[in-house]
Amino acid sequence: MRTKRDLPIAVLGAGFTGLSAAHSLAKKGFKVLVFEKKGEAGGLSSCYRVNGYSIERFYHHLSGSDATTRGLMRELGLLSRLEWRKASTAYLLGKRAYKMDSVVEIGRFPGLGLLDKMRLGMTVLQSRFLDQDVEKLDKTSAEAWVKGSLGERAYENFFEPLLRSKYGENAGKVSAAWLMGRIRFRSHRGLGGEGLGYPRNSYSEIISRLVLEAQRNGAEFRFGEEAAAISGEPPELRIETPEGEFRASAAISTLPPQAVVSLAKPGKNVAKLLESIRYQGVLCMLLSLKRPLLKDGTYWLNIKSGDSPLGAVIEHTNFQTPAGMKAAEHLLYVPLYVQNWQREAERKTDAEIAELMLGELRKILPFSGSDVNWWRMAREKHAAPIYEVGYLEKLNSVPGSVRGIHLAGMMRSFPERSVEDSIRQGLQAAEKVSRGGEDGGAHGPA
Ligand SMILES: Cc1cc2nc3c(=O)[nH]c(=O)nc-3n(C[C@H](O)[C@H](O)[C@H](O)COP(=O)(O)OP(=O)(O)OC[C@H]3O[C@@H](n4cnc5c(N)ncnc54)[C@H](O)[C@@H]3O)c2cc1C
Repeated sequence: MRTKRDLPIAVLGAGFTGLSAAHSLAKKGFKVLVFEKKGEAGGLSSCYRVNGYSIERFYHHLSGSDATTRGLMRELGLLSRLEWRKASTAYLLGKRAYKMDSVVEIGRFPGLGLLDKMRLGMTVLQSRFLDQDVEKLDKTSAEAWVKGSLGERAYENFFEPLLRSKYGENAGKVSAAWLMGRIRFRSHRGLGGEGLGYPRNSYSEIISRLVLEAQRNGAEFRFGEEAAAISGEPPELRIETPEGEFRASAAISTLPPQAVVSLAKPGKNVAKLLESIRYQGVLCMLLSLKRPLLKDGTYWLNIKSGDSPLGAVIEHTNFQTPAGMKAAEHLLYVPLYVQNWQREAERKTDAEIAELMLGELRKILPFSGSDVNWWRMAREKHAAPIYEVGYLEKLNSVPGSVRGIHLAGMMRSFPERSVEDSIRQGLQAAEKVSRGGEDGGAHGPA
């Protein structure tokens, strides 16, 4: 007779949340079955393989506070690959770029007065203690909070362009908790500027090592196989994919809440709650150029220039040259966050979007078509939750699991999503499910 111990735990999605959960469960001796709709692992952190090197589809780096990621890299024998470098930041105000690395350079930035800068410095320090204030900040909009604490000028010349470029028409709805989380992520600075981490062989090495380790411990990965429906109850769930029906004792979902609703068909109230957690999309062009566009070595250029829809461009090769890159290429990311996917992305081809981005880029950083080696366009409809005022409150009412499907992943990352938080989410979900918590069924290692 089949017992529930024979059935694997299903993991839906092989981004960092799913991979960390699968790795942890397999290590503990559980049978694991991972469904990933794409042909490869990594999700938002996945990489292109071009000209003999790997490079993320979307720009990625580690913050100094990413202790869980460092711990995982240590466990995988990859910590020695992690390199910390100065990542130079600048702000384009109108037509002129101002370096924002040293105290002296920040002092010269004309968009803020001396008092604004002092208040900004205090805010950076305050962000370290975010956890104490997070509930209060969740109830206030970033706009109201900045205007009240730092003043109108700091909002208009510094934060509003950042909020607009990230959240477009939703900028006014985003909470101060998200903004402070963002400041905390980017505030590991010395006197000379910001220090960021990057795995020498890109994130792809961590991703493939996670898959290998999980497989070595018996996990099965089904790539290119989308979970389409889930029925049954623990300890026997039925997962339908285009390839057939699979049984599992419990499941960990790392998918956006809308996908959970369509897969698991929870009750009306839970469905309504999950559907109210809105996500935004992103389009991100990676340009390979014959010469650097940010000639002064800037990695991250924030932009407030006329009506440019570009909020930032990121020149990866000013931070790190990909291991294995032979010819001198300069890699620049041009991201565009999208609030209305259907209108702004779905109906447009990659070439149309690239033309728009290149046109906008040329207005602020002149270059010619002959400077471009190649470009790639990455699109993701579910790039990040929109961290609206009250997000935390809403999140607190989301159940830990729906009919035996444990809900993990970006949706639960607060006040900002990151690889660090996804890894934490994955490990926590594995721990809960392995203990049979939150109606995830009772389990024991196979
Ligand atoms: C532009 C951009 C820049 C970023 N920069 C950084 C950074 O510098 N540092 C940092 O720490 N983080 C950064 N992030 C955030 C980071 O990439 C994410 O927080 C993290 O990768 C999310 O991992 P996840 O596993 O939770 O979700 P995802 O990576 O979205 O994984 C979910 C997986 O589920 C799969 N899936 C979806 N539906 C189904 C289905 N029905 N069946 C099976 N599989 C399915 C998807 O294909 C995907 O692989 C950035 C993100 C973006 C978009």
